Amino acid sequence: MAVPELAPLKESKVDVVIVGAGPAGYMAALWFARMGIKAKFIDKRSTKIFTGQADGLQPRVLEVFETFGFVDRAIKEVAVGYEACFYEPDDEGKIRLVDKQPEGVPGISRFNGSVIHQGRIETWISDAIEEFSKGELQVERPLLPEAMEVDTSVGDSTTEYPVKMVLKKLPDNDAGPDQFGHKVENGLYRQFDGDQKYEVPKEGEDLEVVHAKYVLGCDGAHSWVRKQLGIEHKGETTDFVWGVLDIVPITDFPNIRKRCSIHSKNDGSIMVIPRENGLVRLYIQLREVDHEGDKLSEVTGKKRVDRSKLTAEQILATAQKIFYPFSLEVAETHWFTAYQIGQRVATDFQKDNRVFIAGDACHTHSPKAGQGMNVSMMDTFNLAWKIGYVVKGLADPSILHTYELERHAVADDLIAYDLQLSRLFSSKPGEISTEEFRSVIEKGGAFTTGCTVNYDASVLIDKPADRPRTEPYYSALASNLAIGMRLPDTRIVMQSDGRPWWFNQRLPSTGEFRLLVFIGDYINNPSLKKQMADIGEFLARPESNVAQLRRDAVLQPMLVHASPQAEVTWDDFPAVFRPRDERGVMDYWSVLADTPTLHEKTGDAYEKYGISREVGAAIVLRPDGYVAKVAEPTLEGIEDIWRFLGGFLTAVKATT
Ligand SMILES: Cc1cc2nc3c(=O)[nH]c(=O)nc-3n(C[C@H](O)[C@H](O)[C@H](O)COP(=O)(O)OP(=O)(O)OC[C@H]3O[C@@H](n4cnc5c(N)ncnc54)[C@H](O)[C@@H]3O)c2cc1C
Repeated sequence: MAVPELAPLKESKVDVVIVGAGPAGYMAALWFARMGIKAKFIDKRSTKIFTGQADGLQPRVLEVFETFGFVDRAIKEVAVGYEACFYEPDDEGKIRLVDKQPEGVPGISRFNGSVIHQGRIETWISDAIEEFSKGELQVERPLLPEAMEVDTSVGDSTTEYPVKMVLKKLPDNDAGPDQFGHKVENGLYRQFDGDQKYEVPKEGEDLEVVHAKYVLGCDGAHSWVRKQLGIEHKGETTDFVWGVLDIVPITDFPNIRKRCSIHSKNDGSIMVIPRENGLVRLYIQLREVDHEGDKLSEVTGKKRVDRSKLTAEQILATAQKIFYPFSLEVAETHWFTAYQIGQRVATDFQKDNRVFIAGDACHTHSPKAGQGMNVSMMDTFNLAWKIGYVVKGLADPSILHTYELERHAVADDLIAYDLQLSRLFSSKPGEISTEEFRSVIEKGGAFTTGCTVNYDASVLIDKPADRPRTEPYYSALASNLAIGMRLPDTRIVMQSDGRPWWFNQRLPSTGEFRLLVFIGDYINNPSLKKQMADIGEFLARPESNVAQLRRDAVLQPMLVHASPQAEVTWDDFPAVFRPRDERGVMDYWSVLADTPTLHEKTGDAYEKYGISREVGAAIVLRPDGYVAKVAEPTLEGIEDIWRFLGGFLTAVKATT
């Protein structure tokens, strides 16, 4: 809605407003804190989440947490999934174990799918935001946006503040979710018709006006921002209602500490998810729920579920029937909720590349695949660094187009998988065979790791435009590194001190692109030595502007050689890969080796990436760790890379 005429109010200017402090909002704020972007981060609730809600962390998200420096906190606290069990009913209706499979995809990442409640995850991110921004960037609560206006006449200007938003400070008692009188903490308030009230700014309220360059709507499934933009949330909601219980169980079920999918004869299905601190989450299909008469929900178009009648005891009673012949009692109930299955995707993820939506604001689905929080965080992990570049004048605003291109495709894949999964879990006994059930879960396993996301060709991904994203595209120079996919991890050795690392640990999310020059075995291939010198010279030219690109945290050139250590000397490497700072202190951390070490097995990174030690490859890695381009490690190859970077990086554009 347009901003109404009001008496003069408190006004401020920021680069970005983030509406909503859920996983998507926190991840956006993390990038902005890391990149020093001035953001206003608001949420209408008076407190963060303390328990319950999402709990599954994909391997890919754990990799991302590592690049921001806090994966160790996760590793210490989470429950990790290693085995999945499948139960089916026998003729007497007793459930029995029919199969065991590894959980996830062994070897796809160093991290396995892990679980812990959303509140903890938000705390880790929040602490990192505090550290990066030195306390400058914090969630401001409870603040509700009431009006937004965008001046489109400025085009894609990155210096103007064309968005005007009116924010209202809510009284605390309007900012706490309605808990429907239940004693146990629950998430019922957010699962059905939503909790969004539409208001109009009025004189006398505690209001402020914010002028911003960009807005990120991370305000969940009932997104106010999405509605302001007039974006449709297309899809359907079913009549299926699922209950969720977070309990400390007392049971004789032998696989309670493994992930289980249980199909009963007559009472529906359960998913068992072992959690941190002895907790177990149960997802339980609820066959009998009370409705509020025949009234249809405005949001779902289905009969409204009577939330006041849903209790933890009712959900447990259904679970007990499904577990037969095993017993299931409860020592502690920590949280419960119920949700109605629906799959929806927003038609657009942005308006004029000025106001964006991300996370549940763009896509909603059942929580069964454990994807919502992960995909939401990865949406803003994809978007926020791009906004950071544009706001700082480091890149052309055209890079913002890639957000919708890249993330809409992921949302579509997610919805397709969730539809399949929901159909399986909601099917009646006999409708779907055990084999079909397992096959869908196995095929979806790779997708749910988050490691198979494959971005299409764009100004940021250099590959043929006609490649379907289901088919990874490889250059012959790096035959196992798909362009558009994340760089898989490998062991690598720091040349300066001989210490082995995981490569991901040396590629922190600083906002920099990385130019990874895999120069091969230059000692035994004199032509490679010459190529290394040529590349060094090209990058050292004043026109290449590399010193400035480094200072602005735009580009870090790194060298990975594969020559025998006994014959390598530090002075072999061009100065641009080991520059000195203004005090004369050398950078010892940008030359790496793919060689055996005395302490552990290393030296197979080239094989893992499909790079020849006799030919090498030059790779551009985006700030979010996705392979953007592969070229020859020659002068021509680097010139080609420079043209590619010049397509969007302001400082490189000026020199090409
Ligand atoms: C029971 C359950 C289990 C789940 N399990 C998993 C799982 O295992 N793995 C997984 O990945 N996902 C899971 N999900 C999904 C996950 O919770 C969501 O997909 C995820 O929280 C979406 O993140 P978000 O930041 O987009 O939105 P939200 O988490 O909904 O956050 C939105 C934020 O915006 C605020 N807000 C809303 N409107 C406004 C407004 N107008 N102004 C200001 N602030 C506003 C809200 O207060 C909230 O803090 C589960 C969900 C449920 C309910």
